[in-house]
Parts: sequence; structure tokens; C-alpha cells
Amino acid sequence: MTVKNSVLSRKALKTKFPTELQTLKVYLIVLAVLLLMLAAEFVILYIAGVNTTIGNPFLQALPLYLALSAPVLFLGTWGNRVYLPLLILPICLITVCGCLVSSRFHLQIDGDIILVILASSFQETEEFIQTFFGITPILFLMVLAIVTGYLLYRLFRSPMKRTRYTVILGVLLLLPYAISCTRYIVMGSAKRCFDRALCTRLISEYFIFKKEFGVLKDIAEHPELPAGVRLKSPDANRILGVIVIGESANRNHMGIYGYSRATDPEIRKAVPPVLPFDDVISAYASTTWAIRYLFTMSEIGPARQDSKCSLIDILKAGGYRIDMISNQYRWGEYDGPINLIFSHVDSRKYLQEKTPKVLDDALLTEMPEFPEKSNGPNLIILHLMGSHAGYDSRYPTDWGPFTGMIDDANRHLVPQYAEILNKYDNSIAFTDRLLAGVIAKLKEQDRPTFLLYVSDHGEVIDDGRTTLRSGKSRVPDAYEIPFIVWMSHEYRETFPEFVREAQNNLHKPLQTDKAFWGMVALLQLTWDDFPEEKNFFSNRYQPQERFISDIRYEKRNIQPSNTQLNKRTDEK
Ligand SMILES: [Zn+2]
Repeated sequence: MTVKNSVLSRKALKTKFPTELQTLKVYLIVLAVLLLMLAAEFVILYIAGVNTTIGNPFLQALPLYLALSAPVLFLGTWGNRVYLPLLILPICLITVCGCLVSSRFHLQIDGDIILVILASSFQETEEFIQTFFGITPILFLMVLAIVTGYLLYRLFRSPMKRTRYTVILGVLLLLPYAISCTRYIVMGSAKRCFDRALCTRLISEYFIFKKEFGVLKDIAEHPELPAGVRLKSPDANRILGVIVIGESANRNHMGIYGYSRATDPEIRKAVPPVLPFDDVISAYASTTWAIRYLFTMSEIGPARQDSKCSLIDILKAGGYRIDMISNQYRWGEYDGPINLIFSHVDSRKYLQEKTPKVLDDALLTEMPEFPEKSNGPNLIILHLMGSHAGYDSRYPTDWGPFTGMIDDANRHLVPQYAEILNKYDNSIAFTDRLLAGVIAKLKEQDRPTFLLYVSDHGEVIDDGRTTLRSGKSRVPDAYEIPFIVWMSHEYRETFPEFVREAQNNLHKPLQTDKAFWGMVALLQLTWDDFPEEKNFFSNRYQPQERFISDIRYEKRNIQPSNTQLNKRTDEK
């Protein structure tokens, strides 16, 4: 066939099926773009060595992408002009973001990461983006958007028409996804219809988040308390307690737990000495869930139990006045999920609202004047920014005991890692100063006082980068937290039996979803049929199995995560 003939026959074909060819051409381009995105996601996950939870991600996503592209074949010109931008732009955007997260943090985007973003305030998200991303990926996204926009514009210039053939083909392409969804629905796991690719996973995870948020709202609005909540003795009426909720503090970075660096010199000097409980892990590795399970009677594990009883409501029933000061962000007018748990405290202050970027030491100056003991028992809750990512923003710029680095013992550490480590350890040391300040204030009081310091969860500082925690991370460092109690002389004299038993439990295992009953006991409260075997400070305490994500946790017989560093001598 000559060239002329070939051109002629193509022309003839075009005249016979002009719109069908155009429709097919557009369809193939759209499918190619989607498959390219899918391949990018797949390759990045593979390179980053991420274990996906949903089987082969490519095979899972392929039927979905075939189905998503199928409407191109039967929507016609105007339908496609609406459908294509709605389809392609979000998928490209989500996939590129997902690839960035996967390559940088070796994680697959899942509900927990979405939760971290959704449950964070705008300021927090902004800080997060600044900390981890920077301008290059944003420029990349802009270029991608422009290229995709241009492609779509070119596609729109020619008319597309549906015919019997394109409709039949479109329906055939919908079938694989429809069949597999039917299968999942019959198997009773409808959620898996969405667990196919990043773009649809986001949708399903968002609805899970909405549901959990509803649960927290329910706890705030309709609490259910056990019967007969009361103080254990008239002496308890004089208690002043402070619970300090840390942020992202990994106990393996504290000298009191064996870290070679003196990150906590102040609390180690406390008199009477603090009790460092050394086998406590958080229930989750993300703030919202960790706090939820710390402050409610809900428990995780196979016998997971949800409860509508919060520590705050128990304390109120027992006659406590509760003042809370938080240095964490909140959602402007609308309280975030964590704050719902603290709905019923007597007073709440959010320091970041008054002074953005204020440091944790402001909590000490803002702490309420301790009300007279005749007014009944008091609890003050301080919620720190602690060691939240962006570590060097957590202490003054001209401060920091840990600087410099690389010496013979850890020559293999990359300078970037050394810098991150210094910043993180400085943030731990800054919290130490705050804790010592609180203890000093409590010592001045002429009443039984105590301090409980517990971090919401740990932090993973891993070989040259901070690895993003996900709520269901399986890395022990994300869970191993400080759990430290200081009790004044007067507290010790007033409740000697409690103190004696607590001292015996220093090495007992605990996960913070089960810390509830211990905290109640520390506050000298009880109720009818109080389960003493769940009270962490009691000699009748019976430890339960612990889980990180879905695997069983045993205390590690290890050096803390940075073993290399532990061989080093302390820096000044
Ligand atoms: Zn946190």
C-alpha cells in the first residue's frame, strides 16, 4: 500500500467513524494518565520498601481505574468536559502527594495520616508541611497541574460522541470493578471496595474519621459514669495534682531511662525522688487516639471496649476542680476531637491562641494560682507541645545543651541525623526544665501534691530522618513513653500505703489505655466495685497483654533506638 493510499484509507475511516475514533483516543489518553499515576504509586512503594496492607496494589487498583475511565466512552462531549477535570486533577494531586509521603517516610498513606492532618489545626498542618516538604514538591505539583490542564484543553477541542459501540465497551470496562465489589460486599467487607487506590482510600478513611469524631462527641454530651464515685478519704479533699501530657516524648531519649545523654538532669534531682515507671507504652502513636484512650475508660486489644466515661467526668463527680492549660493548637472556634474529651473542665486556656509559637515554659507562668485547700481537691492539666515535629521550635533559639556532633564513636551518622538528634534531645531537655518548675511550685504548697508526667506517644528518630509516625505504626519507639510520678512529702505521709504499693510496680508493664484506673487511684478516688486489679499502682494490679498496631508487644531487651549514641559520653 502506498503512502497516499494509507492516508486516504485513514481519511475514509475517519469519515466513517469520526466521533468514535476521537472518543477512543481520549479514552486511551485518560487511561494512560491513570495507569501512569498507578505505576508511580506502585514503583515508589516498592522502592521505599513499604509493606502494603491490601495485597498487590497494582492488581487491586487496576479494575477501579478501568471503571473510573469507562464513563469517558459514554458521556459525550459536554459530559466529558465536566467529568475529565473532576477525575484527573484530584487523582494526580493525591497520587503525587502520596508518592512524596511514601518516598520520604517509607509509609503508605492511610487513615492515620489523614487523621493526623484532619485532626490537626491549620497552624499545625502548615508547620507539618513546612517541616517535611518545602517548595520543590509544590512547584512540581504546579507544573503537573499546568501540563494536565493543557492536555485537557487539547482534548476538549474536538467533539466526542457516544455510539452503541462506545457504550458497550464502557459497560464492559465497568464489569471487573463491579464484580470484585459485589464479591467484597457479599464477604461482608464493603470497605475494601474503597481500599483500592489512594484516591478512593482517602474517601473511606474520611468517613471512618467522621464516625470516630461522633463517638467523642457522644462521650462529651452523654457521659456514662459508674455508680458511687467518691473520694477515698476526707484527706483526699486536700489534694492538688498536676497531670502533664507530654508530646512525642520517647523515653529512650531520657537519661532516667538509660539514655547516655543527660537530657533530664532537673527531674533526676527532684526531692523526694520521682518514680520512673519503665515499661509503659502508649495505646496509639498519634495524639488524638492516644489521648482518647488515656483519658477515657475505653480499652484496645482483642476485647476492645468502648466506654462513654472520661476521667474528667469521674473527677467532677468526685468533687474535683479541674483547670486545663494547653500549648497545643486547636481548631479556632470549633474544638478538635481531643478537646471534646476536656469539655467539662472548669477552665481551659489555649496559649497558642493568645501568642502564636509560644513555648511550653509559658505554661508554668500561666498555671493558675492554687486555690485554697478548703475549696476541695484540685487537678491541673498541662498539655505540652513538648517534642512535636519541628523540634527546634520547641525551645528558645539561643538555648540548647546539645550541639555539634560527629565524633569517632558515631562517625557513621550523617550530619543531618546528628542535627535532628540534637534538636530532639534539646526539646526533651526543655521539657525537663518545665517539669522541675512544676515540682518546685508544688513543693511550696501546704497540701498533698503530685505530678504525673506521661507523653501522649513516642517518636521515631531513625537513621538520618524523622520517620513519620502513623497511628498504627509498628515501630516500638513510637510507643515507648515516659511515665513519671512525683509525690510530695505530704502526699507520701497522707497516703503511705498507696505510695508503698506504687513503688513496687516500677517495672510492671502498662499500656496507657489501661492507665485510667491508676490515675483514678492516684487522685484518691474510687467507686462501687472499683476494679483494683486494673489499678496500675496497686499490689493487686494484673497486667494485660499489650499491642502495637495489631501485633503483641513485649518489652525490648535493647539499648534505646540510638545505640550508637549510647556508647558516647555525655556532652555538656
Ligand atoms: Zn502527639
